[in-house]
Amino acid sequence: MNAAAESISISPETRAFLDRKHRLFIGGNWVDALSGETFPVIDPATEEQIATVQLGGPEDIDAAVAAANKAFKGEWSKMTSYQRTRVMLKLADLIDQNIQTLAELEVLDNGLPMMLAQYTIAGYASEFLRYYAGWCTKIQGDTIPVSPMGLPNGETLTYTKREPIGVVGAIIPWNAPIAMFVLKLAPALATGCTMVIKPAELTPLTALFMCELIKQAGIPDGVVNVVPGLGHVAGAALSAHDDVQKVSFTGSTAVGKKIVQSALGNLKKVTLELGGKSPVVVFPDADVQAVIGGAIRAAFFLQGQNCMAGTRLFVHKDIYQQVIDGVAGIASQMKLGPGLDPASQLGPLISAQQRERVLGYIQSAKDEGAELICGGSAPDRKGFFVEPTLFTHPTQELTIAREEVFGPVLYATSFGDTDLESIAAEANKSIYGLSGSVWTKDIAVGLKMAQLIDSGQVSVNCHAAVDPAIPFGGNKMSGWGREFGKEGLEPYLKTKATTVIFSNPPM
Ligand code: NDP
Repeated sequence: MNAAAESISISPETRAFLDRKHRLFIGGNWVDALSGETFPVIDPATEEQIATVQLGGPEDIDAAVAAANKAFKGEWSKMTSYQRTRVMLKLADLIDQNIQTLAELEVLDNGLPMMLAQYTIAGYASEFLRYYAGWCTKIQGDTIPVSPMGLPNGETLTYTKREPIGVVGAIIPWNAPIAMFVLKLAPALATGCTMVIKPAELTPLTALFMCELIKQAGIPDGVVNVVPGLGHVAGAALSAHDDVQKVSFTGSTAVGKKIVQSALGNLKKVTLELGGKSPVVVFPDADVQAVIGGAIRAAFFLQGQNCMAGTRLFVHKDIYQQVIDGVAGIASQMKLGPGLDPASQLGPLISAQQRERVLGYIQSAKDEGAELICGGSAPDRKGFFVEPTLFTHPTQELTIAREEVFGPVLYATSFGDTDLESIAAEANKSIYGLSGSVWTKDIAVGLKMAQLIDSGQVSVNCHAAVDPAIPFGGNKMSGWGREFGKEGLEPYLKTKATTVIFSNPPM
């Protein structure tokens, strides 16, 4: 490991993990990529290389899918639902026991502040597994009263069984790596599927560490396979594979469309969690201090690299200036720094390329006449940092009001005394429909607006409420299907209907 990484204070376990050889996890074994190629993993806070990982390609995807297929028909399919619950609970406990290493790896790999990394692991990943562990024993079909061929009531029985769909390909992004890994893994294990997971090339480390825990938890070999690799190579091979029955994808809308094309070969099922441009709508009776804190979290959580980010702030004119001043006051004081520094409130963006992309959006807003209230630059230091930025403009003509920036850039505007439908029409002026929030003390206004906002998820007096039991997914170009909750099991299941006839049908 290099000098910069050496100087960071991390636990001996994390250091040992970083220093080892990082291979592919196929059939319960660590194997080299068949091509022998590798890729570097960069700490976005220091721009230094912290690990080298084997680069999986299409042949490795083939091997991983074969291992997943074998496991699907083998020991895993014979395990009872109680046994699946037990191994999932064990895995959840192992995650909690290894929180320090997982959190340090996540911070070094992704850049997010330590406190948030710990939250996404102990407050989210392990609880998510426990939630779905409880579902293993509750997946059941129906009995249906039917009269095939005119048979009288009582002469037939039709029942349905919910069966695992088969081998699932999971393709995940870099913005919340361990959370994404677990949110694909948990429903797949609960339903009895097997998996091949392709982590994002930029953040493969916690996915690889999870393989060790998966083995320790007693999950049979081949049930979970992890192949780090390039999206357009390994990801494309996985989404096109004929022995994969379903792809669960989280990422950009542009790649989501490619996944749909790739799935056509064997008509595999696809769920897509894609981009967002979510509105935050604030009425004049709202608690202004709560709104300011909420707007900051909505816009800048994970440095704004968050699909649910509330990036369009609509505030009633009576409290607009107060809210803008409050948001700018906090945003301009936020401490940027490496996630391992407890004082850091905002980490770096994921890569130099992402920083350039975000700075390009900031420049576009300046060019298009938006008023810059705070931020707007990249500090002159190592790491891919961008200041939390607030722009205002009377209309949504700006590029940053239409396109997903995926960085710490918030656009704000005001509205006057008008009907809820007109406010909702502005909030809905987007190709996306993932999340959104409404801020008011009037519950009737809150509920009405929640109904009018065209998003998969709306929160009142908070933004982006997340819980394993709350269905999550997008309308419009934010995706297909839902994850989380009972609904999140559906894409991993298929229904088989069986009919028994007790007597001969009438002629
Ligand atoms: P990308 O769509 O570029 O990448 C997501 C994943 O897809 C990565 O693993 C990537 O691999 C892979 N990939 C890239 N090209 C292909 C391909 N042709 N075939 C198959 N897989 C491919 O998104 P980002 O990584 O840039 O993530 C940010 C995006 O994700 C944002 O738009 C954001 O809104 C969205 N997102 C949505 C969430 C949701 O729940 N709705 C949650 C989080 C993010 P590699 O990185 O190795 O190239």
